[in-house]
Amino acid sequence: MRVPLIAGNWKMNTTVSEAIALVNELRRGLDEIDNVDKVLCPPFVSLATVRELIRGSSIKLGAQNIYFEEKGAYTGEISPLMLADLCEFVIIGHSERRQHFNETGEIVNKKVKAALRAGLKPILCIGERLEENEAGRTEEVITEQLRSSLAGIEHLSGLVIAYEPVWAIGTGRAATGKQANKTIGFIRRTISQKYGNQIAQDLHILYGGSVTADNAAEFMRQFEIDGALVGGASLKANEFLSIVKQTSEIRTHLSEES
Ligand code: PEP
Repeated sequence: MRVPLIAGNWKMNTTVSEAIALVNELRRGLDEIDNVDKVLCPPFVSLATVRELIRGSSIKLGAQNIYFEEKGAYTGEISPLMLADLCEFVIIGHSERRQHFNETGEIVNKKVKAALRAGLKPILCIGERLEENEAGRTEEVITEQLRSSLAGIEHLSGLVIAYEPVWAIGTGRAATGKQANKTIGFIRRTISQKYGNQIAQDLHILYGGSVTADNAAEFMRQFEIDGALVGGASLKANEFLSIVKQTSEIRTHLSEES
C-alpha cells in the first residue's frame, strides 16, 4: 500500500511571524502521527525559517512554485537549485497559477522537468474547470494536461500528482469521494498506458479541493486516493492536524483489514 501524503498549501498567506506561530502549533502533533507523509508548503519567504523549525521532525517541506531556469537575469524568480537546497517538494501547475499567471501546459512541463533535474519532487496539479466538468469533458481535459505536463519526461521518480478540480478549489464545494476516486483511477490508468503498471501503482495521486476535517475521511477511504493537497484548511492548526490524524487512522485500519 502507498503511504498517504497530506500537503498543506498555505498559498499567499502568513507573514514570517505568522508562519512561525502556525508551525509551533502544528509541529508536535504532526510529528507524532505515523503512517502519513506530512508536507508543509509555506510562502517562499518563510521556507528557510520553517525548515529550521521542523528540523529533526518527520515533517517535510515544499514550495508553491518554481522557475524553470537554473540562474540568471530573471528578476524575482526562484530557481530549482535554490529550492533544492531548502526543501523536498514543489507544487507545480496549481490552477491559481494557470489562471492568474497564464501558466500554460508548456510552462508547466518545463517546470516539472527543471524540478526533477534538480532532485525536487514536483506535486503536479491537474484538474478540469466547472464548464468542462458539466460538459462531460473531465477525462479529455485530464488526458491533455497529462500529455502536455509530462511531454518528454521518461522517469517519473519522485513525481506526485494532485487531482484538483478547479470548481472545488477554495469554493467549499468538494468533489465526492466517489467522483474523485473515479477520476484518480482514470489518471492512474493513463499513466500506466504510458509508463507501465508498476510506475502507475507506485505513483502517489492526491485529491485537492475544499478538503476539511469534516470530509477528509470520505476521501481517505477511497482505494485510488493517496492523500490530499489541502489549501484553506491547512492554515488552521487543529483542522490540519485532524485531517492528518484521520488519514493515519483510516489507512492503518485499511492495511490491517487487507
Ligand atoms: C489548494 O490550494 O490546492 C486547494 C485545494 O485549496 P482549498 O483546499 O482551499 O480548496
